[in-house]
Amino acid sequence: MSNIAVCVRFRPLIARETPHRPDACCIHQFNNESFLFKEEKEGNLEFVFDRVFYEYSSQSDVFEFVAMPIVRDAMNAINGTIITYGQTGAGKTFSMEGPNMLMGDRDLKGILPRVSESIFKLIDNADATCEFIIKLSMVEIYMEKIRDLLDSRKDNLQVKEDKVRGIFIAGATEIYIQSEREMLQLLEAGVTSRAVGGTQMNSESSRSHCVSLITIQQSNTEDRSVKTGKLFLVDLAGSEKVEKTGVEGKLLNEAKTINKSLSALGNVINALTTEKSCHVPYRDSKLTRILQESLGGNSRTTLLCCCSPSSSNATETLSTLRFGTRAKQIKNKPKINAERGRPELELLLLKSEQECEKLKSQ
Ligand code: ADP
Ligand code: MG
Repeated sequence: MSNIAVCVRFRPLIARETPHRPDACCIHQFNNESFLFKEEKEGNLEFVFDRVFYEYSSQSDVFEFVAMPIVRDAMNAINGTIITYGQTGAGKTFSMEGPNMLMGDRDLKGILPRVSESIFKLIDNADATCEFIIKLSMVEIYMEKIRDLLDSRKDNLQVKEDKVRGIFIAGATEIYIQSEREMLQLLEAGVTSRAVGGTQMNSESSRSHCVSLITIQQSNTEDRSVKTGKLFLVDLAGSEKVEKTGVEGKLLNEAKTINKSLSALGNVINALTTEKSCHVPYRDSKLTRILQESLGGNSRTTLLCCCSPSSSNATETLSTLRFGTRAKQIKNKPKINAERGRPELELLLLKSEQECEKLKSQ
């Protein structure tokens, strides 16, 4: 059993948060694991997490602590999950992706491109008896519908469960990947096709949950054993209350539906951390269904709570910090996923399907 790790990242103050005012910032006495948070009504509150990152923390610092141990485990067939949570504009996508993953500044690269890089580095350095098969799927959950980000024709996928595969998204495109560059190209294409809708808080804000799944299958050429690790990388939609963003009509409906997935996530976390409760409402939303194993199940999971340091966002930040505090109590049961499979046959099938698709589209 291991607890979910919860980290917090405060981004720098931005121009509209009046950084010149002495009371602009609401965090004090901070160190690597804790800080005092000042809120108008509640006074000074102390928060403690597995790790706290501040404005001077680099993308590389965040990756090394939040993601690298999970990637190493996933290469060893232990499932892993990394989730970014927080209000719109708090730095979720910056942390998960950074600027353009193919062409952006190297130092600013986020978790996804760094994960891609380290997977292929680890493969290069692995034992000669290990063969790896890497696959990528990407979906977004938008208005409780699952859209395939790697194939726009698939706009209403369903979550299924069976004995062999566990929980999976039926029909989601899975692409076999052979290099870091191929991975980055697909990831960038995937995030570019996410549904976006501006709100007052952030004109480029994404109103959907984006789930990337990297499957790492490893076979040993000597003893023919096969192991599989799944790595979920999840960039959630903004957690802010609807009123604040001043949306109406379709957008309001959208905000409510988005909040349905997020409130289901909150309810799942509450159920998992309340001693008496035995029913965990995973089935209440697409998001919690997909993340079922990541929350209280077979996965090593880290939640990265992204926050604005500004006093003007204190209420939302406090709600994010409380969400993180609750999530810290969740216990997971990660294990090595050994299986008896025929990965080379599966791969042949996958490759020939990919070839067929290519021919069809020509
Ligand atoms: P979210 O995905 O949570 O809505 P973004 O990641 O898009 O928020 O961040 C909002 C803005 O703040 C972006 O312009 C982003 O580049 C910037 N930003 C976020 N975090 C940082 C950081 N740690 N350092 C510098 N800029 C950041
Ligand atoms: Mg975002």
